[in-house]
Amino acid sequence: MAGHDAHLGVDDVPAYRIFRVWVERVVPLGASFVRVTFGGDDLCCFAGDGFDRRIKLVFPDRDAGYSFFPDGEDWWEPWRALPPERRNPVRTYTVRAVRPGRRELDVDFALHGDGGPASRWAREAAPGRPLLVIGPDSRYGEPGVGTEWAPPPGAARLLAAGDETAAPALSAIAEALPAGVDARILIEVPDPADALPLDVAPGVRVTWLPRHRPGRPGARHGDLLIPAVQEAARALRAGTPATGPAEVADLPPRPGVVEDEPLWEVPEEAAADAGFYAWLAGEAGVVKILRRHLVGDLGVDRKSVAFMGYWRLGRPEID
Ligand SMILES: Cc1cc2nc3c(=O)[nH]c(=O)nc-3n(C[C@H](O)[C@H](O)[C@H](O)COP(=O)(O)OP(=O)(O)OC[C@H]3O[C@@H](n4cnc5c(N)ncnc54)[C@H](O)[C@@H]3O)c2cc1C
Repeated sequence: MAGHDAHLGVDDVPAYRIFRVWVERVVPLGASFVRVTFGGDDLCCFAGDGFDRRIKLVFPDRDAGYSFFPDGEDWWEPWRALPPERRNPVRTYTVRAVRPGRRELDVDFALHGDGGPASRWAREAAPGRPLLVIGPDSRYGEPGVGTEWAPPPGAARLLAAGDETAAPALSAIAEALPAGVDARILIEVPDPADALPLDVAPGVRVTWLPRHRPGRPGARHGDLLIPAVQEAARALRAGTPATGPAEVADLPPRPGVVEDEPLWEVPEEAAADAGFYAWLAGEAGVVKILRRHLVGDLGVDRKSVAFMGYWRLGRPEID
């Protein structure tokens, strides 16, 4: 994944640029998320064509605010060059919805305690608080910048799966799919209350996989997602109905691996056999296991799958 998306388009409008916004409202979602709705005058130019559109959020320093954050499109290198104590935390999130006419942007944050600046900021978010968003400008003229969801034309058997950090992208993808595809959307979340209703077309089947269930404590990231993806991929490729996801108790033990490198493998070109396409995002160690299973065990063409580590267990997004 590029550190930033600073290409120039028609009339020198950058693909991504800084939007100065403020918190309009904060709404808890389920047990583990908050939806923060941002307002800002120039959100009228925020591109809103959906799917897994990524953005970067720049969090204010408690004392210095944004005094040291470099202005302009080419913020990345100067920001990286700052001493750590002057570098505002920057984290990657997904556009859940944008309403340019109302100058509003929704971002859904999975809360994971106080361990990171983004989760901490979201827990404390309140109307009026400022934020810098590095987001897509609708005047750039090329749709799809900053999205990876790209099934080849004609791919009718679709699998999209991930954990709570991918839930906003998976929800946006599920809601954008047309009727007539055979799509399985698998979303592993911490709690049963995190399963939210989605407005999807016939043929799009959404399965929420809550890790915490009565009588089944201690499930880890991936414990439900891995067997569910294995089963759905097998069934979709064979054209047979999927059975339910395996139970946690059925799973073989799995070592807790901390990934050193971010994982980001998306096809540059479409596979020749374009019937099946998969999009997988979440904790990098889990996504790596899914990659091994799909490509190694099932023989799925790498050009038919996007694998994206959205975060790494035990590691901040950017050191
Ligand atoms: C393209 C893309 C889109 C994303 N979209 C979203 C989104 O819409 N919503 C969203 O919530 N996240 C999303 N993420 C994931 C988010 O960027 C990471 O979870 C990020 O690490 C959170 O930053 P932080 O400051 O809270 O924690 P960091 O400072 O990055 O990490 C601190 C510690 O928290 C751990 N950690 C990070 N995230 C989690 C988690 N979810 N659960 C448990 N432990 C965690 C890390 O392993 C580390 O030990 C996306 C990531 C990418 C790459």
